[in-house]
Amino acid sequence: MNLQIRPEIEEILQKAWEKRITEKEALKLMNSSSDELFALAVTADKLRKRSAGDVVTYVINRNINFTNVCIGSCKFCAFRRNKSDADAYLLGIEQIVEKSREAKKLGATEICIQGGLHPDLDAEYYSDLLKVIKEETELHIHAFSPMEISYAAEKNGMGTKDALKYLKESGLDSMPGTAAEILDDDIRSTICPKKLKSREWIRIVKEAHELGIPTTATMLYGHVESAGEQVKHLAALREIQDSTKGFSEFVPLSFVHFNTQLYLSGKSRGGATGIEDVKVYAVSRIFLDNFRNIQASWIKLGRKLAQVMLNFGANDLGGTLMEENISSSAGLSTSMLDKKEIERMIIEAGRIPRQRDTLYNLL
Ligand code: SF4
Repeated sequence: MNLQIRPEIEEILQKAWEKRITEKEALKLMNSSSDELFALAVTADKLRKRSAGDVVTYVINRNINFTNVCIGSCKFCAFRRNKSDADAYLLGIEQIVEKSREAKKLGATEICIQGGLHPDLDAEYYSDLLKVIKEETELHIHAFSPMEISYAAEKNGMGTKDALKYLKESGLDSMPGTAAEILDDDIRSTICPKKLKSREWIRIVKEAHELGIPTTATMLYGHVESAGEQVKHLAALREIQDSTKGFSEFVPLSFVHFNTQLYLSGKSRGGATGIEDVKVYAVSRIFLDNFRNIQASWIKLGRKLAQVMLNFGANDLGGTLMEENISSSAGLSTSMLDKKEIERMIIEAGRIPRQRDTLYNLL
């Protein structure tokens, strides 16, 4: 096969094998041609092998979205409801605990809890919820985005660091690094005007890491942002990781557009194309030299593309989830994955499946 690869792309890929590439170089990779995409894949895959080996991990977890009531107004979100809406819900603590018990019986090692910003809930509610789940199940609790932390802290008149300490003492083990979207305030003013600003997201994540609460790192891409803004976002994550080493993994989240106001009002593109998806994954692996783990989100990409990402830098397929409400509200059909199916996907990609816990210890 005779691929047309420009010398400058070859040089950047060669450099990536030996040292860190710059934002400018990452942007050139994001703008590479379809021929060059094969070269990106080879480099991303080699770098994946060097940092994470041939094992592909997954976690057995249960996702619980405890309420869809939210005072937020994110334009990419089709999940939120007003309290008065007919299909608004708030699960009772006993219901949440029951779901957690069930998950434990089914072999889950993690309970993942995220929800809307409910006007009647605060840090005390979050704390009660953590305590009772911990008491009943002893499972790892991965909960509350930096936005939820900011909201709960504000409701109780606390600083975010104090709120994090309080929730850690109540049983919070780690946090999803969601609500990052794109760390650029111009983009945020279009897609999520009421959400915390970039610097606040960064501050809360750093506070969590300082307190020994690891988080994931995410990027919501495929809406109004440019490749340059994607790279700027990756650079912000790389810098945080340099200073705290508190990110467990990076999860690129491909925008699910169907039922969202952002897309329906004509303001965004209709999600990333498959080519953009693979570029984002490959460039993330190449650029984020201080992240061992890149997770392919099967819920956003679909199972087939998520499996393909194992050849574009990903070394993890995330969680089995058991239930999911956010992407399905946005118009995705999301049937759940079980251990057998996830392992089949990994084996057929020529890799070794291993169950892990939230913090990447193999089980
Ligand atoms: S993304 Fe979260 S904060 Fe934003 S509207 Fe949806 S539920 Fe609310």
